[in-house]
Amino acid sequence: MVYAFGGGHAEGAATMVELLGGKGANLAEMARLGLPVPPGFTITTEVCADYYEGGRRIPGSLKPEVEAALAAVGRITGATFGDAANPLLVSVRSGSRASMPGMMDTILNLGLNDLTVNGLAARSGDGRFAYDSYRRFIQMYGDVVMGLDHSVFEDILDSFKNLNGFHSDTDLGAQEWREIIDEYKAVIERELGQPFPQDTAAQLWGAIAAVFNSWHNPRANTYRRLHDIPDDWGTAVTVQAMVFGNMGETSATGVAFTRNPSTGAPELYGEYLLNAQGEDVVAGIRTPQPLTEAARIASHSESPSLEGQMPQTFGELARVFQQLERHYRDMQDIEFTIQDGRLWLLQTRSGKRSAEAAMRIAVDMAGEGIISRDEAVLRVDAGGIDQLLHPTLDPSAKKLVVTTGLPASPGAASGEIVLTPEDAQAMKAKGRDVILVRVETSPEDIHGMYSAVGVLTARGGMTSHAAVVARGMGRPCVTGAGAIRIDLKNETVTMGREVLRRGDVITIDGTSGQVMKGKAPMRQPQLSPSFATIMQWADHARRMGVRANADTPRDCQQAREFGAEGIGLCRTEHMFFEEDRILAMREMICAPDEAGRRKALARILPMQRADFEALFDIMEGFPVTIRLLDPPLHEFMPREETEQKAVAKALGITLEQLRSKLVELAEQNPMLGFRGCRLAIRYPEIAEMQARAILEAALASSARQGKPVVPEIMIPLVAFRTEFDLVAAAIRGTAAEIARETGTAPQFHLGTMIELPRACLRAGDLTAGEDGAEFFSFGTNDLTQTCLGLSRDDAAPLLSGYAHGGVFAVDPFASIDRDGVGELVRIGVERGRAARPGLKIGICGEHGGEPASVAFFDEAGLDYVSCSPFRVPIARLAAAQAAIRAAARSSAAAEA
Ligand code: ADP
Ligand code: MG
Ligand code: MG
Repeated sequence: MVYAFGGGHAEGAATMVELLGGKGANLAEMARLGLPVPPGFTITTEVCADYYEGGRRIPGSLKPEVEAALAAVGRITGATFGDAANPLLVSVRSGSRASMPGMMDTILNLGLNDLTVNGLAARSGDGRFAYDSYRRFIQMYGDVVMGLDHSVFEDILDSFKNLNGFHSDTDLGAQEWREIIDEYKAVIERELGQPFPQDTAAQLWGAIAAVFNSWHNPRANTYRRLHDIPDDWGTAVTVQAMVFGNMGETSATGVAFTRNPSTGAPELYGEYLLNAQGEDVVAGIRTPQPLTEAARIASHSESPSLEGQMPQTFGELARVFQQLERHYRDMQDIEFTIQDGRLWLLQTRSGKRSAEAAMRIAVDMAGEGIISRDEAVLRVDAGGIDQLLHPTLDPSAKKLVVTTGLPASPGAASGEIVLTPEDAQAMKAKGRDVILVRVETSPEDIHGMYSAVGVLTARGGMTSHAAVVARGMGRPCVTGAGAIRIDLKNETVTMGREVLRRGDVITIDGTSGQVMKGKAPMRQPQLSPSFATIMQWADHARRMGVRANADTPRDCQQAREFGAEGIGLCRTEHMFFEEDRILAMREMICAPDEAGRRKALARILPMQRADFEALFDIMEGFPVTIRLLDPPLHEFMPREETEQKAVAKALGITLEQLRSKLVELAEQNPMLGFRGCRLAIRYPEIAEMQARAILEAALASSARQGKPVVPEIMIPLVAFRTEFDLVAAAIRGTAAEIARETGTAPQFHLGTMIELPRACLRAGDLTAGEDGAEFFSFGTNDLTQTCLGLSRDDAAPLLSGYAHGGVFAVDPFASIDRDGVGELVRIGVERGRAARPGLKIGICGEHGGEPASVAFFDEAGLDYVSCSPFRVPIARLAAAQAAIRAAARSSAAAEA
């Protein structure tokens, strides 16, 4: 139940994260490495599970183990827990498998009471330090264990400082802290009807139970939900001898990254505070100081750097950082304390980083020989690079800078000011972009930060809560904008000379720290050299092709810039909506007979042909899959009365005639209605016109490029082979006509979109024989709708209820339902290829750009994925990661 560490030994190790939590496992590992870690022990996550199973009771057998481990810590430190003359003080820390920054509460200085505090004062010869520690302990214990809100204590301290003319906490001496301690104890007794516990054993068990309880506090629950962390993992508890950063001017506490977590640059990055303890640095109570001289100069900071102030300790820190980074083979996020000039390490873990930094660090570490290229590819979160693919602030544009803070998380965002997390959530639900503006953020604000497009805080440094969480979420963030004043009551924010209101639009630039009034112009993303390198390594590693869903020349251009190797889905209906075409389309729909329809279609033909020519020219011989008209015809018709009148007039029919057509087209359930190949079967002339436009364009573009352009014509919503054959006949007939007219037989491939369960089950029917489908493309949006019997457009309210109820872990329209829809895909692949070996298969639903789904498609043996142009790099990276993992799995299997 208990694993000890310290004095150069440890029972645990870094590999035991599941049992000891990340913090406990890595403390043990650092102790093994011989690094200076205060001794302690970790109670396992299994005990947490027992605790909840037993109805929140500490198992009886834990007691003797903890007592023995505590005695061992006392032997290493030479102090005794609860001893009045020479008390051992400990911290009680939480830590689960996944890092949950700031989610759980740590209690420091435990073991102090009215007697032991005097012992601490006497032995340290520093009354101020001893009573400062005691008041911190009462404050934390009163809040976390006893449940008295921390503001009660803060109010007491603030009014004491105001009354007595103190500015900073460090100005208070022993006597002042004693007075505060008396007030703290009194307020606990008054508010809770019970005294602050003087029995140190009772303190310890109260704290251990509180850490277990905090696993289920609301903010931990929210964080787990947002990050897909299972509820049953539980937390470990680490009890560790205290070291003190609040012992005067030769003591300090700090946090650091071994590389810059914003840019990835290989430089020490972090902050510290002299004469401080624990979370003082991240809480934004005082402004922290930079670690390095370079950072101090760059930030024009007046306060000295650690490098300048304690060069020897700094040197040791730098050496330890390098050792840890090499040992863990990753950038580390480290918490340390300096007690009277001596360095102590309190935590290490892989550091969260921006997407840009992730690329740079992966490429650099591969260059330094720390990791391989494949590992570098695996190190970058494919979903996370999304933030790099979107526009950033245009540096050449005029902008109205109203204030500046620290560049805490890169990228720019514009949105309306909101001042509370609740407001952020409510506005987001209405589809609005908001910037959350706070004095500082705390874990209670997480849901608001998640709902905002950016975060701005008045206080806090580069390692503050806001900065760390925003980087993790990929939200731009500016912290420590000291010149802003927030007035919650009047819902205003004063920034320099500007007084802005809730709802006013601002722009923040997390790369420069600037805050601008209004919506600042953005420009296309500038992709870094590291980005290009990672993509090159990814392209080398992946098996699947990556195409884009693109309908317009602009989309095609963008797709190619992002590395798409073809168009996996060109939706032709968008081409009908442009102003000059929609009328011809409506004329076709309203025409009383085939001749009328053909006349209207003849007007559309040259326009559509020109569209396709442009696409083929841009794609320069890369494959282009074009889907025939898919949506129900009523989508092309006017809805508003005024528009209906205008259309009737333009078409030369009466309003009544138009309306009766609308009645005829109306359906109860259009998603399952008259659409897809059903249109082409009822009106073959539509398919013929589209086939002619595609094939003539291909011939023209091919002649221009001097190389063959072989379009892939895709028939949507097929369920039966006969449907495929009927539409195929119209297309092949058209091709034959063109061959007769021009003397050149157009080349093309004919395939189907697979979006109905029947098509998956009968895939062999569709591909059988010479004339069968030559390719499949899974339309996983419709396949998900038809497999689950769930309308995507109506599903949102239902899905959120289902997510809470545990029916879906994730939205099945965003990430593929592997077990259900996925099984249909596997069946379709298997049966389609059984009847036609080598059948080319792709996927063109939204899932094509979602990393977990891409991994599934790799496993299912698809040839390519296709997604929106902006997600192409994500898909390239995800496909590479899937291939690398598959190779690792199969070589592991071969070894076994
Ligand atoms: P979190 O998970 O929120 O980061 P930690 O358990 O790391 O919580 O504790 C927060 C901070 O408390 C640490 O960064 C460190 O500064 C301080 N702390 C924890 N344990 C000790 C200790 N034994 N001695 C001194 N400081 C400690
Ligand atoms: Mg913390
Ligand atoms: Mg910590």
